[in-house]
Amino acid sequence: DVYGEGRRNSAGLDLSMKADRDRLAAAVAKVDAAPLQSGPLIGGKLEAGGPPLPVVSPVDAGRVVGAASEAQLPQIDKAFKLARAAQPAWDQAGGVARAKVLRAMGDALEADIDRLIAILAREAGKTLSDGVAEVREAVDFCRYYALLAEKQFGEPEVLKGPVGETNTLALAGRGVFVCISPWNFPLAIFTGQIAAALAAGNAVLAKPAEQTPIIAYEAVKLYHAAGLDPRLLALLPGRGETVGAALTAHEGLDGVAFTGGTDTAWRINQTLAQRQGPIVPFIAETGGLNGMFVDTTAQREQVIDDVIVSAFGSAGQRCSALRLLFLPTDTADHIIDGLKGAMDALVVADPADAVTDVGPVIDADAKDALEKHLVRLTREAKVLHALETPAGGTFFAPVLAEIPAADFLEREVFGPILHVVRYKPEDLEQVAGALAARRYGLTLGVHSRIQAFADEVVRLVPAGNAYVNRSMTGAVVGVQPFGGEGLSGTGPKAGGPHALLRFAVERALSVNI
Ligand code: NAP
Repeated sequence: DVYGEGRRNSAGLDLSMKADRDRLAAAVAKVDAAPLQSGPLIGGKLEAGGPPLPVVSPVDAGRVVGAASEAQLPQIDKAFKLARAAQPAWDQAGGVARAKVLRAMGDALEADIDRLIAILAREAGKTLSDGVAEVREAVDFCRYYALLAEKQFGEPEVLKGPVGETNTLALAGRGVFVCISPWNFPLAIFTGQIAAALAAGNAVLAKPAEQTPIIAYEAVKLYHAAGLDPRLLALLPGRGETVGAALTAHEGLDGVAFTGGTDTAWRINQTLAQRQGPIVPFIAETGGLNGMFVDTTAQREQVIDDVIVSAFGSAGQRCSALRLLFLPTDTADHIIDGLKGAMDALVVADPADAVTDVGPVIDADAKDALEKHLVRLTREAKVLHALETPAGGTFFAPVLAEIPAADFLEREVFGPILHVVRYKPEDLEQVAGALAARRYGLTLGVHSRIQAFADEVVRLVPAGNAYVNRSMTGAVVGVQPFGGEGLSGTGPKAGGPHALLRFAVERALSVNI
């Protein structure tokens, strides 16, 4: 049952166990000792692309994780050709056969969890607990989509029609999908997009983010080792404006799955609109301007815990992260005091250290953007609390600021800066309406002991994922199908029962005998 029964999410590791922590420390030391690599991986072979460029760790500018070379145009053509040739057999093999490969991939990821977490800590600056969650999510995507493949891509559905005529409806793969992913979930989203496209019977050309080509290379190798015909999955690393643009302009594609910023989604949409050939689906999961509304009945300690996790976990670099905290004027100061205290307890340090709560942001550009925003907050709003940023690497320590209203934010601020907005309860409709008017719709939080308040906020601010009296990040596959609406995405939701439908075509067959 895809809705829960008979399905288990991956258990991951237990970081409270010394043995698990020791194994991870050894895995990190190994990654530090031997540089890794990435490049165009086509038909199962690593090819020479552009000149290899160093992949530098956000933890420390002097630490090189490895080198990656960019895919070249002829390699993109070649990958399309191989994928096109291999896809029909994969499609015809059916959902049950494809599920086997996806399950083997889930098992392979789980078996390699230590090394994958170590690479995530170094290449993406992920804390160990974020690394555990990320590998688990990647495993869950593989197993969940395996289940969907079996259930939805097996026997065609028989429809009622005239006597003597058999009418059926079947799902099939579309052909070759291009999957473009971000650096903030460089394993889970990368693996998940590919798993969905493969489960539905497609071949995949995958472009990881520039910042995280190495973990992507490892994931593709695991897919191949899990029994996938290597022609069905190519890795084409490189920049968005070169490799990404060439992939999305290519006449050989049958669909695009993209996760990243809203601006990039607009650009890809334009590229797709200008190309000749089949009209293809564009699945886009993008940014958010995520708010949490607290009322005077909310439990203060719970609010503080959930806000800290939602705003500063993963250094605020989750699309679901809390950006705007709406506090009622009567209790705002009391909650803000508590937040300051809880922020002081956060450890901002090397993510490979098990005690670290907040690691670095992804790169110097990300840090610069946050610093510029902080200058603006200092000048035009009010900084309430700021932690000390450690030296070395691209760290940016959590900041709490107060702004007059949601429209102070021109766009998503992608990092550990939380904005507080005070509101009078009688103004809820106007304040929430102003947030909804921005047309993002990713996550939403509510803290209240009054059901009617929660219902009202959920009604006023449409969002793909709403959370009441808990943190608002960390959606679990099969439990909280994830994805936004409006400026935040097109759906279908990742990790939900309808996830594969836009990766597929529907074919109706009417037979008279
Ligand atoms: P991004 O800058 O939009 O990049 C995403 C991917 O698109 C990267 O692989 C990028 O390549 C590629 N790209 C850039 N320009 C392109 C073009 N013209 N054509 C084709 N591809 C192109 O986003 P990011 O900074 O990596 O990730 C952070 C963003 O992702 C945030 O806005 C976050 O909210 C969003 N996000 C959304 C979700 C969700 O499920 N809704 C989940 C995670 C993240 P290069 O980076 O290599 O240039």
